[in-house]
Amino acid sequence: MKQTVEQSGANRGPGRFVPYDPAVLLVALTGGIGSGKSTVAALLEARGAVVVDADAVARDVVEPGKPAFERIVERFGTGVLAADGTLDRPALGRVVFGDEAARKDLEGITHPAINEEFVRRIAGSPADGIVVCDIPLLVESQQAAARNYGDVIVVEAPLEVRLDRLESRGVPRDDARARMKAQATDEERRAVATFVIDNGGTLAELERQVDEVWAALREKAAKQ
Ligand code: ATP
Repeated sequence: MKQTVEQSGANRGPGRFVPYDPAVLLVALTGGIGSGKSTVAALLEARGAVVVDADAVARDVVEPGKPAFERIVERFGTGVLAADGTLDRPALGRVVFGDEAARKDLEGITHPAINEEFVRRIAGSPADGIVVCDIPLLVESQQAAARNYGDVIVVEAPLEVRLDRLESRGVPRDDARARMKAQATDEERRAVATFVIDNGGTLAELERQVDEVWAALREKAAKQ
């Protein structure tokens, strides 16, 4: 029988992440688009996890008035701003696309700001807390992978199931396929997983697996 929740010793060891309270159990949550990451994050949050959403952090640090926002405008000009004065992300994306130096400059601004914000949010969690960082591009991003997560939860679902779920959320199947092609494969994500959650079934089946993962994380946190 296929084991749906796995635990292995993979992905341990020191990382380069800025210090935070060592009593905090730091867990990464990842998966391809439409796999069910947000659903799993919400279920873990309901059980007591502190959830940090990487996409929200990335948006937050470039809000008007934030230091990274000011530096982006200094470097790339007001052409990367929308009419309402916020960052026009597609416009910025076009500026750095294919321009290695520009991309490096942008990352030099955003990466430290994102790391600082992560640390700030983690530091704000209870000392014995379990912090789950929802990071869609954990495997694709060297910056994200460099943090020393004690555990990595990977959410998986069969391709057709993901396409169906995304379509019912308004994402055309071809768009979804194109975005999946640009992402890591299930195998690549599995290589860094300490838990694999199979979200090919019902929500009740998903909850049962989340309960198992949560129990294992609680046990680990209690021993830290
Ligand atoms: P994205 O990468 O696009 O942010 P995601 O990986 O966070 O997606 P979710 O948003 O959690 O995935 O799930 C995709 C869609 O599938 C949502 O509409 C969600 O409600 C639905 N869904 C998730 N799991 C199940 C399930 N087990 N049964 C039925 N629907 C589900």
